[in-house]
Amino acid sequence: MTRVSAAQCDWGGSIWFSQATPKFAFMAWLAIRGRLATMDRVAVWSQGVDTTCVLCKRASETRNHLFFECSFSTQIWEPLMKGILRNSYSGKWEELVSLLATSPMEKKKQFWFRYTLQATAYMLWRERNRRRHGEQPMLATVLTKHIEKAIRNKLSLVQSKGIGGLEVSLQYWLGTKM
Ligand SMILES: [Zn+2]
Repeated sequence: MTRVSAAQCDWGGSIWFSQATPKFAFMAWLAIRGRLATMDRVAVWSQGVDTTCVLCKRASETRNHLFFECSFSTQIWEPLMKGILRNSYSGKWEELVSLLATSPMEKKKQFWFRYTLQATAYMLWRERNRRRHGEQPMLATVLTKHIEKAIRNKLSLVQSKGIGGLEVSLQYWLGTKM
């Protein structure tokens, strides 16, 4: 079995993990299963649609482009994730899914990797939908602040509940900030 196909079988637990936020987890689950209505898929049943990515306007929209090869997505993903993943940092979906499923990680690092991945994918997809519905584009810096706010909210919740191994995460997370 190749690393990628093993990863595809094993990602369930890495999506529906303890302390996950359900709407983020659901989005990530759809993305991993290739069920999001990205324009490459829409074009299959609806010919002639414009498949250009609304975030960068420079490439065709596919899942792997949105998460996180798109230049707009990279602006958000890289600063959030590089400090957490360090040498294993990637913006490539397949590599990230493989990391999710197979890579042994310290508990808090694993938690913040999974949580940040889901929150970022969710917020990017929401921004993509907003733009497709003609709403005013949000700047990458503003979107990053929204994601950080979601992460901070989760941190304070985890801390107030005193969940084993994650209490010291605030220092950890702040320590990953570059
Ligand atoms: Zn793009």
